[in-house]
Amino acid sequence: MSIEAEPPLLRTTGLNKWYGREPSATGRVFGRPSTLLHAVADVSLTVQRGETVAVVGETGSGKSTLGRLIVRLEDPTSGDVLIDGRSVMSLGREQSQELRRTVQIILQDPYSTLNPYRTVATTIGEVLKVHGMRSRAARDAETDRLLELVGFPASMRDRLPGQLSGGGRQRVSIARALAVRPKLIVADEPVSALDVSVQAQVLNLFERLRDELGLAYVFITHDLAVVKRLADRIAVMYLGRIVEEGPAADVVEHPKHPYTRALLDAAPDLDVRRVTEAPSLTGDMPNPISPPSGCVFHPRCPAVMDLCAVRVPVVTEPEPGRSVVCHLYPPPEQTTVEGDVTA
Ligand code: SF4
Repeated sequence: MSIEAEPPLLRTTGLNKWYGREPSATGRVFGRPSTLLHAVADVSLTVQRGETVAVVGETGSGKSTLGRLIVRLEDPTSGDVLIDGRSVMSLGREQSQELRRTVQIILQDPYSTLNPYRTVATTIGEVLKVHGMRSRAARDAETDRLLELVGFPASMRDRLPGQLSGGGRQRVSIARALAVRPKLIVADEPVSALDVSVQAQVLNLFERLRDELGLAYVFITHDLAVVKRLADRIAVMYLGRIVEEGPAADVVEHPKHPYTRALLDAAPDLDVRRVTEAPSLTGDMPNPISPPSGCVFHPRCPAVMDLCAVRVPVVTEPEPGRSVVCHLYPPPEQTTVEGDVTA
């Protein structure tokens, strides 16, 4: 008798998100040049139960769009998102509600997602009510339990969001997310708007909740110090693509992709031993509407070769558990393909 392996908690397969209009045969839309933007390009990512996967990259790398696709705030143009082995694209209304219980999102600015006219207790109580907790007394008790869980003083349960500090608001948004007992939280730059001292406290909270509740995280951040502390694995994104992925310690200490090396080099406060050093990242992220040919990183890459501008690199696994998309790590059987010039 065969025993079926449990599916990963989250799997995205070939996820693409385009914005804009498809070009006509003339390459123009209503007489204007088309402005198609490939925000997320063929992203396949897996998160196991209890695992923290950090998605890192500069502003404009597509990491926040990826987060929104995972929680289905937006639909992908193609590809799929599977939660517990089930495609979220094919879910009916009831099952979509179930998905919302399983996956929650926490945003950088909780103020934008908290109703300024609702108290902390009302905000959390409403979520509990929507998800079936009918008794007022039960909701009050559960609200107090959740606030205690996130280290928010119960004495402040009747405050409005505007009366709270940034850290306090983020604790409330975490408590609200936990109200539906999710298995996975997509945290999109959740501490980047906070003071440094408060950042450490909120990161401690994420760490403790992961250990106590067995939560998995997709932790979206540009801050590699955050990554080093929390992540089990890292996926590095550039211009919508994952260019390197692997165990966090390996990627931080032995980066393979020139972009990852440059990101690490730009974070000198990271206390890590690295076997390779690279010049700091120079230049700006290219316009995603007209990405560079070949390897999209080639205009900024310190290791660029002639091949890089004309040929798109493919995913290779230079060692078990690591993947990288770079011509420095070609698959053994690779042969030159004429005219292969775009991403
Ligand atoms: Fe740099 Fe070429 Fe690798 Fe791209 S493929 S990261 S340009 S070396």
